[in-house]
Amino acid sequence: MSLQITRQDLPIRVTASGSVLKIPVFQVTSGLPGPKVYLQANIHGPEIAGIGAIYDFLALLRSLNTVRGTLTIVPSVNPLGLDSKVSGHQTGYADLNETVVGNFNRIYQLWVTDKPSDDPEAPQKVVLDTFAEQHRHSDLPMIKQAFRAALGAAIADYTAKNAPYGMRHGQKLALTIQRLSYDADYLIDLHTAGDAIYHLFTFEECLSAARYFNLRHTIQLDESFSGVLDEAFLQPWLRLQKAFQKLGRTIPFADFGVEAFTPELGSADTLDRIAMREDAERVANYLRYRGVLDGRAIRHEGEFFYAKQDHYRRYHAPTGGLILWHKHAGDRVMAGETIATLLRTYALEADGTGETEIPIVALEDGVIISASESQVTHEGMGICSILTRLQSL
Ligand SMILES: [Zn+2]
Repeated sequence: MSLQITRQDLPIRVTASGSVLKIPVFQVTSGLPGPKVYLQANIHGPEIAGIGAIYDFLALLRSLNTVRGTLTIVPSVNPLGLDSKVSGHQTGYADLNETVVGNFNRIYQLWVTDKPSDDPEAPQKVVLDTFAEQHRHSDLPMIKQAFRAALGAAIADYTAKNAPYGMRHGQKLALTIQRLSYDADYLIDLHTAGDAIYHLFTFEECLSAARYFNLRHTIQLDESFSGVLDEAFLQPWLRLQKAFQKLGRTIPFADFGVEAFTPELGSADTLDRIAMREDAERVANYLRYRGVLDGRAIRHEGEFFYAKQDHYRRYHAPTGGLILWHKHAGDRVMAGETIATLLRTYALEADGTGETEIPIVALEDGVIISASESQVTHEGMGICSILTRLQSL
């Protein structure tokens, strides 16, 4: 059977003027058994590099005869985000039409829980201890199949109990994405970050793939849940492993065969012809490594680093002003070095005095991963993020 690519458009929102926003979803298969891959980009409206990467990745797929398994591919998953502009600037990190504004990548839900809800009318999640007990002696394929069925049932129950009241747009968007992806084996959510170098967010269990994506700086996610898609996808499996462990059954995590990645493809609101091709190749190379695409995967050599999430430090402006950069994304900094100066001309007195220059000093050694795109800041706004306590991968 030859390669088949189909497109389906999912309506996601009707605007006041009657326009219908739709999400194009591509399904790719050649009928061969194999993993299920979920790949998306552009949940944050300004983050367009992933749209270009997927455009080239789809072209690459069309040149192939076969894939193993199926791929669900969404080049631009958030039309409202992409369309959000204010005075010419891309602004779609959150739904600007909401009174309760939430980051579009903090909207996802965890469909597992440690204890059942005592309200029978509340949406029912998968109760981990109960599930593990029921499948104490099941083989792995049965566990995986039953767990996915239970996750799907939890999503359906939540939808059925909330839909009659209407849903916030972010809630509907999250449910749509989780319905497309919950039963995948590999999830890849393409992002960018301010004025940034390439980097990766993933879990300890998936670190080895960084060399196949050719992403040299990785932030290793911890066990906290903040509503991010990679967490919502992988944490149910990590927690399931622990539930079995409590019963005395050790299941190596790799045996579940699930992985999740958030590659950050450089800076926001930029698109580049060469980068599109290179970024498509990153995804393709990882999928060769995982046997979805034919061909030899390249394990990139050289220095790769990772650090734990707690050591990925965000610096916030201590006061308002204008940012004069001394360092840039990709630069290494030493503790005590000045990263930037906040220029506060409003503090300037007639006699030339005033606290007009506030240095922003690195507190630890590290690498600047991303920096604010704007040089105008209020107190408390993010200035830059520095990866510290780097370990070799
Ligand atoms: Zn993002």
